[in-house]
Amino acid sequence: MTGRVRVRYAPSPTGEPHVGNIRTAIFDWLFAKHHDGDFIIRIEDTDQNRKVEGAVEVQLNALRWLGLDWDEGPNKGGDYGPYVQSERLGTYQRVIGELIESGNAYRCYCSSERLTKVREEQAKRKGTLGYDRHCRDLTDSERKELHNSGVTPVVRFKMPLEGSTTLSDLVRGDVTFENQLVDDFVMLKSDGYPTYHLAHVVDDHLMEISHVFRGEDWLSSAPRHLQLYKALGWEPPEFAHLPNILAADRSKLSKRHGATSILHYEEAGYLPQAMLNFLTLLGWSLDDKTELFTQDELANHFSIERVSRSGAIFNTEKLDWMNGHYIREMSHEELADALIEFWKRYPAPEIPSIPSRDFALQIAPLVQERLKTLGDAAPLISFFFQDELSYDSEELVQKGMDANGTRVGLQAAHGGLADLEPFNAQSMEDLLRPLSKDLNVKVGQLFGSLRVATTGLRVAPPLFETMEILGKERTLDSIQKAIDSL
Ligand code: GLU
Repeated sequence: MTGRVRVRYAPSPTGEPHVGNIRTAIFDWLFAKHHDGDFIIRIEDTDQNRKVEGAVEVQLNALRWLGLDWDEGPNKGGDYGPYVQSERLGTYQRVIGELIESGNAYRCYCSSERLTKVREEQAKRKGTLGYDRHCRDLTDSERKELHNSGVTPVVRFKMPLEGSTTLSDLVRGDVTFENQLVDDFVMLKSDGYPTYHLAHVVDDHLMEISHVFRGEDWLSSAPRHLQLYKALGWEPPEFAHLPNILAADRSKLSKRHGATSILHYEEAGYLPQAMLNFLTLLGWSLDDKTELFTQDELANHFSIERVSRSGAIFNTEKLDWMNGHYIREMSHEELADALIEFWKRYPAPEIPSIPSRDFALQIAPLVQERLKTLGDAAPLISFFFQDELSYDSEELVQKGMDANGTRVGLQAAHGGLADLEPFNAQSMEDLLRPLSKDLNVKVGQLFGSLRVATTGLRVAPPLFETMEILGKERTLDSIQKAIDSL
C-alpha cells in the first residue's frame, strides 16, 4: 500500500444509527488503527428533506460509546474541513461548473411530471429504467429558451454511451458494468445541494481518502463514481463494498425484524466492547473459529482480505451469549460501576432510585452470573426496594410439598435464623442444610420456599447472600409474613 491510509465514516443525519452503518464505522476505525492511518468523520447532510434534528450528535455519541475516536471531523477540526457537507456547497458548485465547462455535465430542465411519465412508459415496455437523456442534446437556443423560462434546472452527468467500467473491489474483485445501462444521474439538485454521487466523490478526493468502505447497496452506483473521477482527472480511492447484515430469514436486516438502531442495544444494556466484538464478526473473521477479541486485538488482526462477500446474519442469541461473557469477565467493581452508570442513563422502572456504590458492590457478585445484559439486573434485585413483596402464597409451596409442611419448614427456619450470629451466608448455609435433613425435606424444597418468602421470586440471586444483604430483621419479617399467609 502506498501513501497514507485515510478512511472516513460518512453518516447521513437522517435518523438513528443503523447497526449496518456502525459496522462500517468499526471497519473504518479498525483499518485506520491497523495501518496507523487517519479516521475521519464526515457528515453527509445534503438531503435537506430527510435531515433529522439532533441526529448528528446521536451518531457521534454512538461512536464515542463504542470507543471509536476520530482524528478529524465535526467538532474536532482538521486540515481538510469543513467536515459537514452543507458547509461545502461552494466547492460542489465550483466542480459542477468545471464539469459543465468540460462537456461532462449538462443542465436538465425536465419537470417531475415528465420524468414520472418516462418512468411509467419504461416500466410498461419493461425496458431499462432511468432518465432518457432528453436534455443531453438540447441545442443552444433550446437551452437559452428554457433558461429564460425560469425553470430551475438540475445538473446531470454525461455517462459515456459505450464501453464498460470495471471496479476492482477489495472485497468482490473485478466487477464490470455496461456504461449504456447507467443513466445520466443527477449531481446537483434544483435546491442547489449536491447529490451523494457528486458530494462524496469531491470530498473523498479533497480529503485525500485512500479507502472507501461502504455497504454493498452502493455497488451498483460505483460505475457512476468511477466515471466521475475519470471526468475530473482524479485518481479514485480503493473501494470495499461490505456485505449486508441479514436477519435470521436471510433478508436484509430491517426494522420489521426488530431493533436495528445501535441505540437500542445501548439502552438494553449491551456493553460497548461486546457490541464492537459482535459487529466486527458480521462480515469479518480471523480464522472462522475465534470469537472473542478485545478492541486492540481486532485492530491488530483486521484485514480486508478476511472480509467476506456473503451477507452476515445478525444472531441475537450469539450477541446475548457474548454480552454475558463480557459481563462475567468484569471485576465486581467494574460491574457495580457499569450498573450505576447504566441506571443513571436509563432509569429502571423496577428500582426507585440509583443505589449507592456500596449496595451495587454487594449485589454485583449476586447477579453477575445471571445477566445477559445490564438491563437484566434491575428486575432481579427489585425486591430489595419493595416494602411489601407481592406473590401468591401458593408459590411458597414447592413441588412435592403441601401448605402445612411448607409452614413447618418456614417456622423452623425462622426459629433458627432468629438466633443466628453472625448473620451471614456461610452461617445460614451451615444452619439450613442440616435443618432440611431434620425436617425430612429436600434442600431445594426448603430453599425454594425461603426464596419466594424473602424475594417474592422463584428465580432470584443466590439465597443466602441475598438474605445477608437483606439483613436479619427484614429476612425474619418476610418469613413471618409468608408463614402467616399459609
Ligand atoms: N452517507 C452515505 C450513507 O449514509 C455514506 C455512504 C458512503 O460511505 O459512501 O449511506
